[in-house]
Amino acid sequence: MESRVESSETLRNKCAACYRQFNRIEHLVEHMRTSYHSSHEPMCGICKKHCRSFESLREHLIGPLPKQECRNIFITRGCKICLAILESPYALRVHQDRCQLSGGNAGLLGRFANLGIRDNTEGGSTRGTQVVALACKMVGGGSDGSLDLCAKVCLTDEYDNIIFQSYVKPLLPVTNYRYETTGIRPEYLRDAMPLRQVQKKIQDFLCNGEPMWKIRPRGGKARILVGHGLDHDLDSLQFEYPQVMIRDTAKYPPLMKTSKLSNSLKYLTQAYLGYEIQTGIQDPYEDCVATMKLYMRMRSQVHKVEAYPLASDPQNRNNFAAWRQNELERMSPDQMLEISRSDYYCWCLDS
Ligand SMILES: [Zn+2]
Ligand SMILES: [Zn+2]
Ligand SMILES: [Zn+2]
Ligand SMILES: [Zn+2]
Repeated sequence: MESRVESSETLRNKCAACYRQFNRIEHLVEHMRTSYHSSHEPMCGICKKHCRSFESLREHLIGPLPKQECRNIFITRGCKICLAILESPYALRVHQDRCQLSGGNAGLLGRFANLGIRDNTEGGSTRGTQVVALACKMVGGGSDGSLDLCAKVCLTDEYDNIIFQSYVKPLLPVTNYRYETTGIRPEYLRDAMPLRQVQKKIQDFLCNGEPMWKIRPRGGKARILVGHGLDHDLDSLQFEYPQVMIRDTAKYPPLMKTSKLSNSLKYLTQAYLGYEIQTGIQDPYEDCVATMKLYMRMRSQVHKVEAYPLASDPQNRNNFAAWRQNELERMSPDQMLEISRSDYYCWCLDS
C-alpha cells in the first residue's frame, strides 16, 4: 500500500518533457524553473521525450544504453541522419534519399574558384540574398606560427552560389602556411586583396545599407550570417556583427555535445547531413556549403508556433520567475511545460 502511494506521487511529479521523476513536487518545480523545456527541443518521435540536443536524442535511440522500446522501432523505420521516425520501412527509404546529402562538387568548385577573386557583392543576382554563410581559412603567424591569420575567405548564399571569394593578404607576416591543410602558397598571398578591403566588402554586404547600430533582428535590410565558430572568423577579419543576426552551428544548443562543448563542422556534416568534408586540402567554400545546409535543415524543423517563444520575452515573465511557488505546485506537469519557454533562439523562427 505504502509503495503504491509513493509511485503515484512520483508519477505526478514526473517532468512532462524529459520524463525525470521527482519525489516531491517542489523538486519538479525547481527542475522546470531551470531547464527551459520547450517545443523547440529535439524530441523522440516515439515516446515524445524532449532532449537538450540531437546528440542526446541519438543516445536515447541508438546509444550504448538506449530506451529499448524506442530503439526497436527506430532501427526499422528511423532515419539515422535527422533522427525522424517514418511511417514504414518503405517511407524511410524514400525519405533517406532526400535526407542524406552529398557535398556535390563543393570541393571541386572551390578549387576552380581558386583561380582568382570572385566578387558578386555588387551583382544583381545576390541582392535579394537574406542569409549568407561565411568561412575563413587560416594560416599561421607569430614566432611559433600558432597565431591564426585569415588567408582565404568565402561568402555564399542559400543556393551555394559564391558571393565573394578571395585570398587575403594578412596584416602580419605569415610564418606557417599550413600547406597540408590550406593548400596556400606564399605567391597566392603576395598580391592578394588586403585585409582591410576584404573586411569592408564583407561588412558592407552583410549590413546591406543598414548602419550597424540600427540593426534589429527583424524587418531590417541586414543579412543573417551563418557560420561555424564565427567569433574566431570575425576576429580574424577584425570586425563585429550584431549577435542577433548570427547563426553559429558551433554554438547552437541542439547541435552541441551533451557535454555542452561544440562539435566540429566535419563531425556535424557527417552526422547530420551524411557526407564527408575537410579531407585533405580544405576549402572555405566547402565549409560555407556545409554550414548553410546545417542551418537550412535546422530552420526547416516544424515546431509549435507560439506568440512569445523565448523565456526572455517579457510576456513570459521570465520563465516561471514571476510565478509563485504555490501557484506552480498546483499545476500539472503538462501545464508547467505549456508555460515553459526556450532559453535559446530556435532557428525555426527564421522561417
Ligand atoms: Zn525535464
Ligand atoms: Zn523551433
Ligand atoms: Zn523515445
Ligand atoms: Zn532524415
